[in-house]
Amino acid sequence: MTFAAASEWDDQSPAPRSTLHRLAPIGIGTPQVEALTSYVMRLAASHALPVGSLAVDVVGPELGRTRVYGDQRTDRASFFKSAIYRDAHTLNGHGEYAARWAEAIGRLVLRDELGELTMLSWRDMVPERGMLRRHLAVCPLCLRDQENERGAIYEPLIWSVAAVNACAIHDCLLLGTCPHCGIQPPPLSWHAKAGHCRRCSGWLGVDDPRERTPGDRDRWVSGSIARLIALSAKDRRRVGTTAAVMEEAISRAGGTAAALARATGRSPGLISEWRHGSVAPTLQSLLLISAAARLDFVALVRGEAVDDPSPRPPQVTTAIEPRTVIDWTRVREQMEAALTADPPITVSALHRTLEVDRQTMRERFPDLADKLVVRRRAWAARQTAERRMKLVDAVHQAVRAIRDGGDHPSRRRVEARLPAGVSLREPVLRAAWREAVGGAASA
Ligand SMILES: [Zn+2]
Ligand SMILES: [Zn+2]
Repeated sequence: MTFAAASEWDDQSPAPRSTLHRLAPIGIGTPQVEALTSYVMRLAASHALPVGSLAVDVVGPELGRTRVYGDQRTDRASFFKSAIYRDAHTLNGHGEYAARWAEAIGRLVLRDELGELTMLSWRDMVPERGMLRRHLAVCPLCLRDQENERGAIYEPLIWSVAAVNACAIHDCLLLGTCPHCGIQPPPLSWHAKAGHCRRCSGWLGVDDPRERTPGDRDRWVSGSIARLIALSAKDRRRVGTTAAVMEEAISRAGGTAAALARATGRSPGLISEWRHGSVAPTLQSLLLISAAARLDFVALVRGEAVDDPSPRPPQVTTAIEPRTVIDWTRVREQMEAALTADPPITVSALHRTLEVDRQTMRERFPDLADKLVVRRRAWAARQTAERRMKLVDAVHQAVRAIRDGGDHPSRRRVEARLPAGVSLREPVLRAAWREAVGGAASA
């Protein structure tokens, strides 16, 4: 049987034929709808391809990468770097990037519903700012259920919303750190597999010994976002203005912008910008307003002020922040730990791991940053000195061995005995060689 014959099974209709398998997306129309990143991983797996190859060799050309990235010289590696590492979390959002990927993959699999695996239909309701989680977070119990039911392993879209910290189905907190290797896994990687750590490939549907019961606030947020995700396609649109709902929210919070500012933990200036429609409230802010003013969250997102008398979690205010907020205690701890790491970690490696830019880190902890730099430099200098000593030794030994064999220790003969890539062009080594042959050497 030929491959062509086998692939006909994937597609019942005679024509047209899809380039990639017509993999069905999971859970469309439900709060557990699959994320586009998850679909990409499953699609790659169904072709026995790494996600990286699928992205670079198949989706990249389909995207017309020059239009997206504007650089004709963009090579494979840097396309992948920007597509999969830097911007991967935005694949599930509602920006240009999500739109293009959903379209491109849709053409490859002949499906037009892949936008449902992103937040594209929220575009007019809520800005993307702060909405997306930059790292992977999973519900280990959801993954375990999928495994037990022997269904496809997939990652729901709701896990990529930064404000969501709990699973509404299992009433447990999401897991954001890999229990095997201890990192916060990125959303994708070259060999990413749904339900597995992107770095160590460890299975994330694990028992987690930590206390994982969510608080009322996390429960309420998860439930609210689940309702937003499950909103039917025709209802995912704005019906009113932010300005109008803000007036209602202000009157419910005590009648003044200052009262709403206190109740939501936002600045009075920001409240006034919402009121005048110059800035749209983020998803986090909408959650805060909903909680403070007892307005239905989903209606609020659509620009409607609808009373919601259901009980509100206490202290729902400022703690609803995306987890992208910098945890300075953790940064300091990691910097301190780096001070005793052997070999010393570079400051740039550290700020990449912590996702804090170098300048911010320096401004916040100048002493620690200086110490790290000094320590790394000292280590690098020691490494260089050690290498030199070893090579000088090697030159001396080579000269001796060549002489013992009855030959003249010429430059060529000595270099032939040195490690690959090492030559007597290095001044220290040339000096050692000259000294060893008694100053009589000629280059
Ligand atoms: Zn769950
Ligand atoms: Zn891991």
